[in-house]
Amino acid sequence: MNLNLKVDKTHRYDAIVVGSGMTGGMAAKELTEKGLQVLMIERGREVKHIEDYDTAMKGPWEFQHRGKISIHSAEEYWANSRFGNLANEETGEFFTDDKKNPYIEKRPFDWIRAYHTGGKSMHWGRQSYRFNKNDFEANAKEGIAIDWPIRYEDLEPWYTHVEKFVGISGQKENLEVLPDGHFLPAMPMSAPELYFKEQMMKKLNRPITIGRVANLTKPQPWHTELGRASCQYRSKCSRGCPYGAYYSSLSGSIPAARKTNKLTVLHDTIASEIIFDEKTQKATGVRVVNQKTLAVEEYFAKIIFLNAGSMNSAALLLNSKSNRFPTGFGNDSDQVGRNIMDHHLGVGANATVEGFEDDYIFGQRPNALYIPKFRNWGTDKRDYLRGFGYQGGASRSDWKRGITTDGFGATFKEDMTKPGSWVMGFGGFGEVLPNPENRMYLDKDKKDPYGIPMIVFDAAFGENEIAMRKDMMNAAVEMLEVAGFKNVAGFNRQDTHLGLGIHDMGTARMGKDPKTSVLNKFNQVHAAKNVFVTDGAAMVSSSCVNPSITYMAMTARAANHAVEELKKQNL
Ligand SMILES: Cc1cc2nc3c(=O)[nH]c(=O)nc-3n(C[C@H](O)[C@H](O)[C@H](O)COP(=O)(O)OP(=O)(O)OC[C@H]3O[C@@H](n4cnc5c(N)ncnc54)[C@H](O)[C@@H]3O)c2cc1C
Ligand code: SF4
Repeated sequence: MNLNLKVDKTHRYDAIVVGSGMTGGMAAKELTEKGLQVLMIERGREVKHIEDYDTAMKGPWEFQHRGKISIHSAEEYWANSRFGNLANEETGEFFTDDKKNPYIEKRPFDWIRAYHTGGKSMHWGRQSYRFNKNDFEANAKEGIAIDWPIRYEDLEPWYTHVEKFVGISGQKENLEVLPDGHFLPAMPMSAPELYFKEQMMKKLNRPITIGRVANLTKPQPWHTELGRASCQYRSKCSRGCPYGAYYSSLSGSIPAARKTNKLTVLHDTIASEIIFDEKTQKATGVRVVNQKTLAVEEYFAKIIFLNAGSMNSAALLLNSKSNRFPTGFGNDSDQVGRNIMDHHLGVGANATVEGFEDDYIFGQRPNALYIPKFRNWGTDKRDYLRGFGYQGGASRSDWKRGITTDGFGATFKEDMTKPGSWVMGFGGFGEVLPNPENRMYLDKDKKDPYGIPMIVFDAAFGENEIAMRKDMMNAAVEMLEVAGFKNVAGFNRQDTHLGLGIHDMGTARMGKDPKTSVLNKFNQVHAAKNVFVTDGAAMVSSSCVNPSITYMAMTARAANHAVEELKKQNL
């Protein structure tokens, strides 16, 4: 028992939102704009928009290790460093120190976290694609896991709602596999990319589009009102954007929520338990631990939104035990923590492109091409289920090629001032099937530095993902060869685990039946309807497209329902 408990019954709000990341920000914006007094609880430190983007304007020469990670930092960021140093000198401040925030791996899990204001919205890749109709139907058609309790049409208006607010640049393509959204002007393709697009259509009947990306190409009045401006094509988004040109909670949803004067934010405050009232069978609030002082406090509200990221939201549910919920809050179905999904990556192909020497690119486009799913679509049938999309494109080698090129003197230097040859490459993002044996749970004995049970991961890719990966590589090689590019080389890295796809989801799935699911069709915990889980935990299947815009659409829809239900006094 923690004797530091300080209960202050004045800690009362209409709503508590746990987490200030992509979905927490959206929940706070929607709920405050509908008139609710909202308390946002964020476990990490405060990051102030623009003021705290310390590396945003630095050149490579201003970093001690020229932007690379030091050996010391690699130990701190051990999970981040396994595959490709996501947390380097330029971006490290927006990733979580794995050493200070340990977790247990029964099977390896690459857990990439961002504990601070804005969560992972600070350094996301901003790729934003709607799920298609089939994504919501495939489980039912194929007899996999359980059916979604919603269909595309339920989310469609909410996709439009959040896309308008966020600002997504993209090209309408009228494809069933990749539904169009509400777009700002698309970013341009380079000459080799346009050539590649044309070849793919002509020879493989395969459409390619420019990435749909949350960077403002033509800010609208509601963007500029929040101080957001046009993208400057610097491709340094993961350091924080001084122009507010890419969408994050810091540039978008939190300032919008603050404008209402109805938002209170607590930092360095870890939500550890949901408080449940056995009499009313409702949640009444959240117990928290101050990560600096370890003091425990309680906050109360009519409704609670869990937006701590899929794994942390599930951990919070599992750690909230009561007579009614002896195995964790809302866990009657034993599905909390199970069905971990992600996207698998680290597989694709590269090639060199001859010609196009007189074609240049404008600035540094913070975006790529997108090749929508084409496997198991239409008449195509494979010996595995579901499919994948590719992200990638063309670039020109720069002066760094000089590091591995022989030469010296004036001619060599002169050569390095000119752009090198074009290269083209694609990496796949593959759908992962839900599997109840892929799970996380809380260790019975081991606690983290804040006295909260440690998370244990026990999950791995299955046969379907492994079979899909081979095809992902071969299909990428085929496309580059068909386009006539040279030195085509496929890759299929074996050192990737679940988590690395940075789209972890599924640990508190929605469903029609409380016996097999945790949440109903409005993201409410079946057995305690004033608790909403609207991050990736709610997902029933993973599609192969980047998921954050779907999480945000789900969040806005749930917030709207919550307020309607509050007005009817149903919660
Ligand atoms: C490098 C990278 C690139 C990505 N690129 C894309 C992309 O191109 N497109 C896309 O769609 N998605 C992308 N993603 C994924 C995207 O970032 C996530 O889907 C999204 O941020 C999830 O939103 P969230 O609100 O669930 O979690 P987060 O954004 O991670 O926010 C969770 C917040 O909750 C806080 N928190 C956690 N536990 C607690 C607790 N117990 N108490 C209080 N606060 C807590 C955290 O500190 C954090 O601030 C990328 C992710 C990474 C890492
Ligand atoms: S590329 Fe655009 S969005 Fe990214 S940091 Fe630069 S200006 Fe901001």
